[in-house]
Amino acid sequence: MKTLGKYSMGLGDRFGHQGGAQLRAIIKASEKGIDITPVWNKSNREHNIIGTQPADVRIEADLVTKNAGFDKPYYVDADHINLDSVDRFIGASDFFTIDVANYIGKRADDKAILQYLSGVGKYTGDLKIPGTKLSSEISQLQVKQIAEKYLFAATKAGEVYKKIEKIKGTGNFITEVSMDEVAQPQTPAELLFILMMLASENIPVQTIAPRFSGRFNKGVEYAGDPQLFAKEFETDLIILDFAVKEFGLPENLKMSIHSGSDKFSIYPYIGSIIKKHDKGIHVKTAGTSWLEEIIGLAQSGREALGFVKELYFKSLEDIEELCAPYADVIDINISALPTRQEVLRWKSDKFSNALRHNTDNCDYNPDMRQLIHVAYKIAASQINDYVRLLEANEEVISACVYENIYKRHICKIFGLD
Ligand SMILES: [Zn+2]
Repeated sequence: MKTLGKYSMGLGDRFGHQGGAQLRAIIKASEKGIDITPVWNKSNREHNIIGTQPADVRIEADLVTKNAGFDKPYYVDADHINLDSVDRFIGASDFFTIDVANYIGKRADDKAILQYLSGVGKYTGDLKIPGTKLSSEISQLQVKQIAEKYLFAATKAGEVYKKIEKIKGTGNFITEVSMDEVAQPQTPAELLFILMMLASENIPVQTIAPRFSGRFNKGVEYAGDPQLFAKEFETDLIILDFAVKEFGLPENLKMSIHSGSDKFSIYPYIGSIIKKHDKGIHVKTAGTSWLEEIIGLAQSGREALGFVKELYFKSLEDIEELCAPYADVIDINISALPTRQEVLRWKSDKFSNALRHNTDNCDYNPDMRQLIHVAYKIAASQINDYVRLLEANEEVISACVYENIYKRHICKIFGLD
């Protein structure tokens, strides 16, 4: 039975060159006493935009772990897959993030809803979960509404799970269920009944990615009240614990935070709350390492700086097309983007400071950072030049990638220095 470690981190490496630097950050954390399981994730969307295959991620993960003599578990995550996209991931992946966002809100048939409701009586009325405010407020009507919104999605997750299980075999992969890419956050009460549905579908879910309150925009700070997030997150953790005991879900079931990179204001809360409840966490990051490639290229100057400037100019031209697939997870103020004329004059430091996620630096520009986050398609369209520059400037870039994952992420989440 594959069991995901207590702490794990989703690492995105769009162009397949930073796995070694990312792994160095994981190894460094382990030397400091924090064992984190690396999980290399790449979504179908990213594969399609870049033109890679899931097997490419497997090859890289196997190679970088072998080169580093890394003898602990690591995984390759088929990120955000559904019934239509799962097939090509099955061979290469051993971690599956089953995304049900598209099915939420579609109504299951009456018979299924009635059957589900017949088993929920115990959890309505005066149900009290110690440590949460969940109590008698849960009415049958409320649960019926939750079932109408989520039951169909849960059965779809069950179908995807069974499809994978049939080929890979029971216990040979990690299952995550994600529902973060939707407009409305799930309440803790919804989370409870969703977990019950997943359990009755016999999905051994080890991580679950809800949509939390506030915005988790790509590559930038959390937008919302960190204290409210902390309350919601803690309630959700208690729900998870309750669901494990009540519904027989895997003991190590934990929260997965999607678009989890760069959310510095909530990391201290996450760190202290998981410690308090002795829970694990999966923090999924993706484009943050791609941004470090651009920062490293800018720092390298000359041709590399020219390349990233051109990439930025092209992203200004293609802004609508680049942003469309990410509408729910970016928030770009177009008037705050520097113009072509300005950027033409920029030197290395100015360009990298605009992009590096250091809010103390007055040149930092979160709008430009989000635009570049989604602009990797442009690099993919000039892949030969891009890879040549990545390789020529590898030392500078991998130092940026390592520093970002270790210092700005791992150290802040786990309270290391
Ligand atoms: Zn996600």
